Amino acid sequence: MSTNANIQTSTGIAILGSTGSVGKNTLDVIERNQERFHVVALGANRSVDVLFEQVQRFSPKYVVVSDPDYAKKFAERLSRLSNSPKLLVGNSGLCEVATLQEVDCVMAAIVGAAGLMSTLAAAEAGKIVLLANKESLVMAGNLLLNAAHNSGATLLPIDSEHNAVFQCLANVANKEVKAGVQKITLTASGGPFLKTPLNKLADVTPEQACAHPNWSMGQKISVDSATMMNKGLEVIEACLLFGLDITKVNVVIHPQSIVHAMVAYRDGSVLAHLGFPDMRVPIAHAIAWPARIDSGVESIDLTDFSGLEFFTPDLNRFPCLRLAIEVQNSGNSASVVMNAANEVAVQSFLERKIKFLQIYDVVASVVDSSEPVAINDVEVIMSIDRQARAAADKQISQLVH
Ligand code: NDP
Ligand code: MG
Repeated sequence: MSTNANIQTSTGIAILGSTGSVGKNTLDVIERNQERFHVVALGANRSVDVLFEQVQRFSPKYVVVSDPDYAKKFAERLSRLSNSPKLLVGNSGLCEVATLQEVDCVMAAIVGAAGLMSTLAAAEAGKIVLLANKESLVMAGNLLLNAAHNSGATLLPIDSEHNAVFQCLANVANKEVKAGVQKITLTASGGPFLKTPLNKLADVTPEQACAHPNWSMGQKISVDSATMMNKGLEVIEACLLFGLDITKVNVVIHPQSIVHAMVAYRDGSVLAHLGFPDMRVPIAHAIAWPARIDSGVESIDLTDFSGLEFFTPDLNRFPCLRLAIEVQNSGNSASVVMNAANEVAVQSFLERKIKFLQIYDVVASVVDSSEPVAINDVEVIMSIDRQARAAADKQISQLVH
């Protein structure tokens, strides 16, 4: 037997957003597969206690703290370590580690627009980009896809539904395969308020909104799941990632979150991806792709799930989903506006400045009053983003006073 066949080089990974829910799950998968992966860089914003513990556990060569004040204090802590990593600061630090030669693969797991520049940098540098940060696709889909195309980067979806579609769409690059796709279906749990009487939604709290029935996630995506803006962002993400018109992307409520997506082909075949709702499944799939590795998650036994339900979402209950579909149909800069206004509105809800139902009101009103702008480069996107944030802030201050 040839010994060369057994030699496996270790993949160097940068995890941007390592202190978050996706970041921690990624480190869990890496820890289970230490012979395959090594952590070159970790990046976060302010969760320096978690980050310090991760530095000790994974001994990265680089660590990025985005917030400069936190970075200063972190530098003192690092100086006490005998084998201290190099500390970088801010977005430029994130972009720098995303493009290091020794980094093969970048986990883009920063939440929101804050992840855009480093995700783009990784794509421009030809890395394998594990894309959790769906907001960067919603904001800059074409730029990101073009950057990946030009550099030879590989974008692999981490979002569970998109990872599921990716698995059911093997060989979609082949035109004949793609022509055979009738529609894809993304499932949605419906979040914590699927059955809450509509007249009770006005007073739900951030704690209730973040208590997702099936998934344990960061606060922003949890609130997005409660409004179903998350599914709206995912519809846009799916159109971009798989090059599909929105008429081919369908959303179905599936409260048990066992089936993550389905792909229907014109011959009547429907391929579905099933698994426990645990992000380590898509993370393990993408990080080792095309190999299969242990994720720490068991596979399901269908006899335990005889009561799986599927039904059409009620767009009156979830107007954010309807808005995102309209925005994708309008095919212009509105998706940047919607994403920015949503980030501001969700943060304000988490800070108890506005009510749950006002998230939609703020986002819809900012989108309605925006003008379409041609997007040529990332500076234009950042400018639209800033203006939409200012408009959302203004709306919110009017609501509050
Ligand atoms: P979390 O809120 O749990 O974590 C966010 C991460 O981003 C943290 O590490 C945080 O650092 C970091 N971060 C935030 N702002 C900045 C900044 N300005 N600069 C650098 N780092 C920053 O989010 P999730 O892990 O839940 O989600 C991450 C992304 O993955 C989102 O885009 C989400 O939509 C997507 N996703 C998440 C899923 C999940 O199951 N959680 C499922 C599918 C997609 P710090 O801790 O220091 O604030
Ligand atoms: Mg998802």
